[in-house]
Amino acid sequence: MNSPEMDSQSWTSEDSAALYGVREWSGGYFDVSEEGDVVLCPKGENDGSRLSLPRVVEGLRKRGISMPVLLRFPELLDQQIHELNSGFNEAIEEYSYGGRYRGVYPVKVNQQEQVIDEVCTYGARYGHGLEAGSKAELIAALAYLKNPGDLLICNGYKDERFIELGLYARRIGIDCVFVIETPIEVNLIIETAKRLGIRPKVGVRVRLSSCGSGHWKDSGGDRSVFGLNAGQLMDCIDRFRESGYLDCVQLLHYHLGSQVPDIRDIRTSLTEACRVYVGLIEEGAPMGTLDIGGGLAIDYEGSQSKSGGSRNYTIQEYCRDVIETVKHQMDLSKVDHPTIVSESGRATVAYYSVLLVDVLDVNRFEPDLDESEVPQDAHYLLRNSLEVGRALNDENLQECYNDAFYYRDEIRQLFQAGALGLRDRSLGEKIFWDNLSKIWKLCSQMDEDEVPEELLGLESFLADIYYGNFSLFQSLPDAWAIDQVFPVVPIERLNEEPSRRAILSDITCDCDGKVDRFVESGRIRRTLAVHEPRDQEKYLLGVFLVGAYQETLGDLHNLLGDTHVVSVRMGKGGDFEVDREIEGDSIADVLSYVEYDPKQVSSRFRASVERAVRSGDIDVDERRSIVKTFEDTLRGYTYFEE
Ligand SMILES: *Cc1c(COP(=O)(O)O)cnc(C)c1O
Repeated sequence: MNSPEMDSQSWTSEDSAALYGVREWSGGYFDVSEEGDVVLCPKGENDGSRLSLPRVVEGLRKRGISMPVLLRFPELLDQQIHELNSGFNEAIEEYSYGGRYRGVYPVKVNQQEQVIDEVCTYGARYGHGLEAGSKAELIAALAYLKNPGDLLICNGYKDERFIELGLYARRIGIDCVFVIETPIEVNLIIETAKRLGIRPKVGVRVRLSSCGSGHWKDSGGDRSVFGLNAGQLMDCIDRFRESGYLDCVQLLHYHLGSQVPDIRDIRTSLTEACRVYVGLIEEGAPMGTLDIGGGLAIDYEGSQSKSGGSRNYTIQEYCRDVIETVKHQMDLSKVDHPTIVSESGRATVAYYSVLLVDVLDVNRFEPDLDESEVPQDAHYLLRNSLEVGRALNDENLQECYNDAFYYRDEIRQLFQAGALGLRDRSLGEKIFWDNLSKIWKLCSQMDEDEVPEELLGLESFLADIYYGNFSLFQSLPDAWAIDQVFPVVPIERLNEEPSRRAILSDITCDCDGKVDRFVESGRIRRTLAVHEPRDQEKYLLGVFLVGAYQETLGDLHNLLGDTHVVSVRMGKGGDFEVDREIEGDSIADVLSYVEYDPKQVSSRFRASVERAVRSGDIDVDERRSIVKTFEDTLRGYTYFEE
């Protein structure tokens, strides 16, 4: 399980790159340098330019920006939009496909102003548009789309205002499409369009019977809450036909759910969607566009498999399979090749952001048992417990494990019954930890499949706890909510062998606020290989692939707010340029989110301090220091500050 003891001198940054699987999950955008730093490779691994992340941190420190920081790399967003568009365009050429590709970015995946601004800027050369699922997203999209003909797909429930605004968007040259999610929307769209005298462009969202695997498998398929089943679809088409609007029905949409790991599911559902598309043409709708939704996955685990946090295909393969399938199906039915729209959000922005966290403290479960502490006449449970560790060998691991727990619990019970004192209980716990760590030491020298199942859990039980300066709930909500795995890697010292194993805890006081699933050599492990932090030196961890869904899903648990966000690009000579800097929430900010008025908060406190002056408990000098400390804290960062 552990590699044979290596001479730590012979450990190189290559070993770390393999251990943390950097080249497997990074899409070529991150690598490890010979000096042991994680580096950014904005143009992919084959281009020479590389930016050291520790160097960025140092530069930020000099600018007075403290950890935790969310780094954004606009160049990666630019590159991913390029990958997606060129992937489809190359496939279109390869298969002599008769339609074109038009991507849209779903705003909900990361709605931050910077992201929408940059998607619109970098997407302009490909006509990459946006997808909005609510009025607020529609408003943002309308303000940022720049070019005539830009595509704007509207999903979600639409009220009259939403529809009016979308119709007006068509008048100013935005190619706005209403996707019908439920039958009730049809009449409202027709009535509003009549009233304003604007012809809408309409899409229909279908529920497919084939659905993918992976976490979001229920968002597609028969049980999906969105989209029309076959009967509803026919009713809608009839309704459009009766009211003279059938020519407006030009798009078919489906969405399988996010992070579809298996390419076969993508193909199967696409084939079904093609059949529906052909059916709609037969019904007399003009159609012209097939919108295949999102689902393009990211390989968070680096295992290139159909496991939930991975994918068994590349972007290029996805594009080829989509184009090939649609061409084949359309040719069979002698139908013109439609424009293909995809709504890839995760794949567009996941690489874009990295969370940097400094380790504040380490908690170790080092048994510091000195056997001479256990006197000859100690209670027999203590002596028996001590014997467990002495009798241990390869053959009786499970038995010793069971006994260790048995004696610990017996000792606890006697303590509760008043038969053992606090010192005895403390000694009992020490012996227990000593036993477990001896057992784990033996296990870790064996092959994993020889270790009894139950004992594998000892790895995380005995691991160090590294306290990171962040909130899981604010910055990595999916790690908490859906057990999403994100790659975590120390960003420096990677030319040294990591000698410890740890789980990562945040600074909320919630026992769920921890990361205990990590990627290592292409598989999931319960602990992370880490270095021993050095005195006077910050130990820095990077959490990668956090650009999709994490930022706005995060919440204010324990009133820990947004981190600082710094947007960085390659500069000259291995240096970097700060593109934008967004200060994280201050304590006053987060208090105001939960309806406190910071001015009131401050004057209430001042009144209490003044009371203490009046009663003679403090003098006015002390009052000044107390009030200043309060005010400085109120204006400060919500995270641990130096
Ligand atoms: C969330 C969503 C997407 C984005 O899916 P990804 O898997 O992140 O690409 C696309 N379309 C619709 C309708 C969605 O709800």
